[in-house]
Amino acid sequence: RTTLFMSVKSMKPDFELSNNPVIAQMSSMDHDQILFCSDNQTGLKAIIAIHDTTLGPALGGTRMWSYDNELEALNDVLRLSRGMTYKNAISDLALGGGKAVIIGDSKTMKSEALFRRFGRFVNSLAGNYITAEDVGISPSDMVWVSKETDHVVGLPGKSGDPSPVTAFGTYMGIKACAKIRYGTDDLAGRKILVQGVGHVGEYLVGHLSKEGAEVFIADIHDDTVSRVAQTYGAKGIELDSVYGLDMDIYAPCALGGTINDTTLPKLKCAIVAGAANNQLGVEDRHGKALLERGILYAPDFAINAGGVINCFSEVEGLSSEWAMGKSEEIYHTIYNIVSRSEKERVPSHIIAMKMAEEKINNGLKK
Ligand code: NAD
Repeated sequence: RTTLFMSVKSMKPDFELSNNPVIAQMSSMDHDQILFCSDNQTGLKAIIAIHDTTLGPALGGTRMWSYDNELEALNDVLRLSRGMTYKNAISDLALGGGKAVIIGDSKTMKSEALFRRFGRFVNSLAGNYITAEDVGISPSDMVWVSKETDHVVGLPGKSGDPSPVTAFGTYMGIKACAKIRYGTDDLAGRKILVQGVGHVGEYLVGHLSKEGAEVFIADIHDDTVSRVAQTYGAKGIELDSVYGLDMDIYAPCALGGTINDTTLPKLKCAIVAGAANNQLGVEDRHGKALLERGILYAPDFAINAGGVINCFSEVEGLSSEWAMGKSEEIYHTIYNIVSRSEKERVPSHIIAMKMAEEKINNGLKK
């Protein structure tokens, strides 16, 4: 089932695949296919990882990032593509999981030639992988990709910016957690911290403020904090007071890994539910620690699925109303996962992965 196609030029001929921890991780995560893309003329170095295509073509965005080395990029793309398999399956989308990373500085290395070359690599996968935007990629980059392949979504004038849909799904997931913890999903008066008020975070602040929650916000950009605070009546807080804040709900909407050994002991919230990907620093350890501390956790790949739901609507030619309606179902998905986690005393991310795997196995039987 595993096809490994490597063309990374810097890899030594005597590279010991079996001894390499990342290669070992690749086989332990059971990926279908990894494509290493390299082109000297444009400076392109990219990796496309297809984790699973049982339920349909692998869909997941392309990230452009200044990785320190190729193995770090490989590690990231393996984890992210597996996350897409779970995200798509748990959301009942007829899609598999994939992801791509372009190694390089998104501020200095972009060119039409580079993205068109990347588009040709995507096209070589003949629709097994459908790409979209992710961190470091803008719609105009995807327009260049689309000159070489049809297997791209999220183009301007089509399904558009997924962030409002992601934020709405996240808002639904937060309400489901509140229902379990407090017996009501009314968020009026709840103290909620949104960390990172970028594309998704700002829309989320809008929903929460409208419902009467007491919203606190933090961002590395002071001007963004001032603007969002003023627009929605939220309270800006200092970055170093984020984890110790006395709050009901912590919504990570910036980068991953914010639930870790340093932050966990400081957390005073009852619920962690936000849009960021890969929130648990070390999945098993920190998922278990949250459960032991009595903090409800909405698994990231289940609560932030609104974006991929929006992409799926473009693949299938469905309306934006359909995408919003489907994202509303995230309420029930999160409610089921978190209540099962509480009842069975099993970390919620493990429950969510099992549920996704069941859906994939059911798909296999069809
Ligand atoms: P974004 O880049 O627009 O926003 C991120 C915000 O976080 C920025 O304002 C940035 O300044 C801020 N930030 C960065 N580091 C921070 C820190 N240490 N503390 C506080 N703020 C910090 O990104 P986005 O599209 O809003 O995505 C946010 C998260 O949600 C990411 O983890 C992304 O992978 C995930 N996500 C996004 C979507 C989507 O539809 N955009 C879908 C699924 C998941």
